[in-house]
Amino acid sequence: MHEVGIISSMLKKIERIMEQEELTHVEKIVIEVGELSGVVPHYMEECYPAAVYKTRFAETKLEMITIPGILRCDECGMEFNGYQHDLCCPACGNRQKHTPLTGRELLIKEIVGY
Ligand SMILES: [Zn+2]
Repeated sequence: MHEVGIISSMLKKIERIMEQEELTHVEKIVIEVGELSGVVPHYMEECYPAAVYKTRFAETKLEMITIPGILRCDECGMEFNGYQHDLCCPACGNRQKHTPLTGRELLIKEIVGY
């Protein structure tokens, strides 16, 4: 599970933002996780408590917004959910050429603190 490493680097980023914004306490972190970002939201949730244990984020809540992984098929132009269809176009069966439209993001959307 590489999610632990992702959470750690995310927390480092947040610490830098806290310094810039002069925040001392963070109540909630909101992140956007794309279905095609390679991160499994379920694992993120599972790893999070261990990752923040005994850190300044121990009381911080993690909220995740899942962004659907939409691909456009380069063969027939169909737009479909690549995550649900296992990266295979449901209209023509093309597995090779797709243009990702959404769902590759892994972003810190909001930091709620003071
Ligand atoms: Zn297609």
